[in-house]
Amino acid sequence: MLCVADILSELLSWAPPAIAWDRDNIGLLVGRRDASVSRVLLCLDVTPEVVSEAVREEAELIIAHHPIIFHPLKALRTDETRGAMLAELLRRNINVIALHTNADATRHGLNHILAQSLGLQEIEALDPVKGHLRVLSLRIRRSEGETIVLPALAGAEEQVEYDCRVIEDDWMRIDLRAPSWRTAEMRRKFGLRLADIPHSFSEYRIEDGLPDYGIGSIGTLPQEMKVQTFLASVKHALACRMLRVSPYRKDDTIRRIAVCSGAGSSCIPTAIAAGADALVTGDLTHHVFLDYQRAILLVDAGHYETEHLFIGLCAARLESAVFENNEKIDILQARTNTNPIWFE
Ligand SMILES: [Zn+2]
Repeated sequence: MLCVADILSELLSWAPPAIAWDRDNIGLLVGRRDASVSRVLLCLDVTPEVVSEAVREEAELIIAHHPIIFHPLKALRTDETRGAMLAELLRRNINVIALHTNADATRHGLNHILAQSLGLQEIEALDPVKGHLRVLSLRIRRSEGETIVLPALAGAEEQVEYDCRVIEDDWMRIDLRAPSWRTAEMRRKFGLRLADIPHSFSEYRIEDGLPDYGIGSIGTLPQEMKVQTFLASVKHALACRMLRVSPYRKDDTIRRIAVCSGAGSSCIPTAIAAGADALVTGDLTHHVFLDYQRAILLVDAGHYETEHLFIGLCAARLESAVFENNEKIDILQARTNTNPIWFE
């Protein structure tokens, strides 16, 4: 049977911890790595109702977007909601994993699918992750580089960007560009193929951002759209009861759109600098609307509404995962509505 560690490593290979916000709290937050798992419940927030649902559904693992433990716990009191919930999870042997800003910022992560759900095209990261791009430089004889390494790169499942050139005495250098969390595995794989062949690796960091990874996304609508039409499509796509928006004129049109799931006020200057006509996000305050009303159209669709796509995204990721021995798990999407805000 699969265990928590198998599922965790699959999820973290998709949403690497290296790109999470440095003050975030992600990974396995309750339970143990070696616990067996046959049923998983996915949710945005762990609430007492979600815990009851996990108990009813006999799920051994909850995967949530928001960390159940975020601020340091100074007490664990079972006469308070969070303490009682943690005690219940431990009593019932239910494990909890959080995938938070790492799932927001990863390639094809939450921000990317949020942009896709609004019909945007040519989607890229709004603020590409910096400090994680590496060049893995392989020095090898030209003959073996051309017959072994280059064909392997051309046939690789996951595309790798590289340059190659011939250097002194018929040796060649192949420079592979990859995120920091992939280079150890690449060295290991090439090391196995090249076990009896003279070669050497060196690795260095480059400062460019990783284009597919980052907080927020930006893209373009297929054509210019009236603001009013765009807002109606946002409401429909994200199942919003209402939107809070900056003042606009009836004939205003937009095309380039930035998105940031959850609370995105910190993305506003980047969205403006990237030439966005509008930013779709959540949790904007009166003063934020006031300060930026002439610079960009702000669309506050709600924190929950811009993030609930996480559940389907995570389900799709787990459904397509191939575990050892083709082991399977049941993937359940929480039916409990955890939106803490109602509109009356
Ligand atoms: Zn959030």
